Amino acid sequence: DKVKEKESTQNLLVAVRVRPLNGAEVEDKKCTEIVHVLDENLVVLKDPNEDQDDILRANRSREKQYIFDYAFGPNSNQADVYTKVAKPLIESVITGYNATVFAYGATGAGKTFTMLGTDQEPGIMARTLNDLFYEMDKTKEDMKYKVSMSYLEIYNEMIRDLLNPSSGFLELREDSKGVVVAGISEVQAKKTSEVMDLLVMGNKQRTSEPTAANKTSSRSHAILQVTVTQKSRVKNTIDEFKVGKLFMIDLAGSERAAQTKNRGKRMIEGAHINRSLLALGNCINALSENRGHYVNYRDSKLTRLLKDSLGGNCRTVMVAHASPASGSFEETRNTLLYADRAKNI
Ligand code: ADP
Ligand code: MG
Repeated sequence: DKVKEKESTQNLLVAVRVRPLNGAEVEDKKCTEIVHVLDENLVVLKDPNEDQDDILRANRSREKQYIFDYAFGPNSNQADVYTKVAKPLIESVITGYNATVFAYGATGAGKTFTMLGTDQEPGIMARTLNDLFYEMDKTKEDMKYKVSMSYLEIYNEMIRDLLNPSSGFLELREDSKGVVVAGISEVQAKKTSEVMDLLVMGNKQRTSEPTAANKTSSRSHAILQVTVTQKSRVKNTIDEFKVGKLFMIDLAGSERAAQTKNRGKRMIEGAHINRSLLALGNCINALSENRGHYVNYRDSKLTRLLKDSLGGNCRTVMVAHASPASGSFEETRNTLLYADRAKNI
């Protein structure tokens, strides 16, 4: 049917995931749930600040509806999110195309849960690698594959290797193969359990500093890069490699610097984060308009790194994250607006 066809050919997919209320939000008497996922595509946001007594105006003005390719509510599970947003990318990567999955949203909205998850409920990163290994295994008689992974962070516009933090700050370089991080470690993983261990270890190396807004604010972008190199085993075929790159990215918190009462050093960090996210948003908008707009990748490290993995034949997935709590209204509204702007027009 039409919807299916659209999904399979669409290069940019935008999804929203709303997490459940957490313990503190449930305890809080003043906290209400203001975000509702009404069906597979529809999210409704209520403004908790507007006059509650004005019943006539209430339902018209206080609610705003957003439509996305997918909307995942608090009861969605990891497998469901993975199957709809990331699994379809595996085939592209195996056949030599590039793809990127982003987790976007404010700190505490659920980005790391979706991307990394837990041992009991692994997220997109481990599930994708698991299925990637499985798919390659099915065609191993005909094809020779090599999978390597790197895990890095961009923090304050500086790049660090999360699998080898002692290597210091690394530089981006552009050569015939495209954009590479010079000196980054590449690990050849074969099993999902190894992958999860590496990711959990790497995540502990992420730079995070407490801010006034959140105790565990993560100000770094964590980037898992998976490179699949493929070569036919069949004799007499053209001796050619195919290389597919898949980026899975847990973006830094999107909350605005202004709201976090940042000063000094952290103010600069905030500005950098906004610059990367803004640069990313601008790139994605230019791509989603799809009219040969000039796409400026040079504005941030993040977009430079992704230069050959956004647009063209590449597939891009943005999963925007939100808390359903009334206290997060401003952040949630900003997140939904950002995601809405990223949509295919
Ligand atoms: P972020 O990475 O965006 O800062 P986290 O992924 O760390 O946010 O999520 C914040 C908290 O909420 C964590 O304790 C996490 O386990 C929990 N959480 C997030 N999303 C979900 C979800 N979909 N279901 C259950 N718990 C979740
Ligand atoms: Mg996080």
